Amino acid sequence: MPESGLHCLMSQPSERAKRQASNMVITVPHGSAALPHYLDCFGATAFWKAVANTHFASDRGASALGRNIAAIMKTSDVLEGSLSRLVVDLNRPIEDASAMPSEAGAHGANPLYPPQDRGDLAARRTYHQAFHSDVESILARRAAAGDVVLIDQHSFDRYGEPGVYRGVDIGVCAPADARYALALYDALLQRCTARADEIAPHPEMRRLNIRLNEPYSADHPGAYIARRHASPRVACAVIEVCDDLLIDKCSIQSIARLIAAATAEATIAVLSPPVENTNDA
Ligand SMILES: [Zn+2]
Repeated sequence: MPESGLHCLMSQPSERAKRQASNMVITVPHGSAALPHYLDCFGATAFWKAVANTHFASDRGASALGRNIAAIMKTSDVLEGSLSRLVVDLNRPIEDASAMPSEAGAHGANPLYPPQDRGDLAARRTYHQAFHSDVESILARRAAAGDVVLIDQHSFDRYGEPGVYRGVDIGVCAPADARYALALYDALLQRCTARADEIAPHPEMRRLNIRLNEPYSADHPGAYIARRHASPRVACAVIEVCDDLLIDKCSIQSIARLIAAATAEATIAVLSPPVENTNDA
């Protein structure tokens, strides 16, 4: 049954659920639209003004959402990208051409590409490697305390290329071992009411379309973080939230509460309880 109003507040995760589910790491690889200043001299400034507030440069609202989920779940490990994915995409294999994209959709050629002749290729590789090393070391520390949940948080544009409306509000992508992601999808579905396309989404009322493997499937290259870091001790799910639901603080908090409650329920349902005395902050 969907939850709303006071019922919504009363259905916060229990202390036991929070404690078990707090063995969680959240990645937000596309949270930043930042461009390193040294790249200004490559003629990127005008291009950047055009794309900086678009989905091509970053996942708008994803960092705020990830931090709100972490605050509710009392987990301190939120790893955010600090550069735009148009510089280097942390959610792609570094050897893949899409890790340093040559285009930004309708905005055309990316002046930051190719990097090889500009002397910054090593810096971009190092940034990518350092992020994944951080994820690996934090997951290893967490795994010592029991099964770990890795949530890879993203946002997407309501209109995909070329301008096609997307009816999905929150998508769960289930790469690798899909048990946890499927339980999470189920927990979200149980808390929301589906809507028709002509009816507006409403985070507070939880009138939201929850879909599996939309707008991106588990085979999409963008499930790289989950595929790379999943293991028998690390359960992964990719969560995609439409960025028009992440504009105001109240909606972000509503969706964070929804996702937090669903992750807690999925953790209880699928994973083993943690060992005692974790070092979670
Ligand atoms: Zn993303």
